[in-house]
Amino acid sequence: MPAPTRPPETPAEAVAELQAGNERFVSGSPRHPNQDAGHRAAVAGEQHPFAVIVGCSDSRLAAEIIFDRGLGDLFVVRTAGHTTGPEVLGSVEYAVTVLHTPLVVVLGHDSCGAVAAAGAVAAGGLRPAGHLGAVVDAVLPSLRHAAAQGIGDPEGIIDVHIAQTVNELVGNSAVLAAEIAAGRCAVVGMSYQLNAGRVRTVASVPRSL
Ligand SMILES: [Zn+2]
Repeated sequence: MPAPTRPPETPAEAVAELQAGNERFVSGSPRHPNQDAGHRAAVAGEQHPFAVIVGCSDSRLAAEIIFDRGLGDLFVVRTAGHTTGPEVLGSVEYAVTVLHTPLVVVLGHDSCGAVAAAGAVAAGGLRPAGHLGAVVDAVLPSLRHAAAQGIGDPEGIIDVHIAQTVNELVGNSAVLAAEIAAGRCAVVGMSYQLNAGRVRTVASVPRSL
């Protein structure tokens, strides 16, 4: 077992750690760090996750697996289409202010069903019944942003929705914006390819970490 290393403390260090883990996952050589019984006991008393993941609920987008991390590493908030309602914002604010997590990642992916559902409504289809309509409502503004920019390809639309989610987090959470302004936190949008397993950075606040 490799010697324990110091957890990331800055936004840039946290991004690098996630990218390194994703590279291990993509190449088929994951280390599965922090998943053993000893670490489970070590983190039972308190948590210091180095990244918040605001991700889509898609079953193929399991954060700890695709970033090759373990217990206590990632504070994960998932909804279909990575929406930004008040409970999501509150969860992010808890992580960055109480747990002092230095990075928030918006994690979207290709072939996202929530984006497809919103696209069907935007094309004239019926708004889904029940609470699924709220998911569609949350994604629709991103589709309008993409259309306004002349972006119509599926990958481009996903990128716009991820960037829009980054902007919504920062724009709707004064707490998060203050942490960013103080240099203690950053928000990065990443797009995940279901087939290749690779994440690609598509947006960040601030622009350079
Ligand atoms: Zn999705």
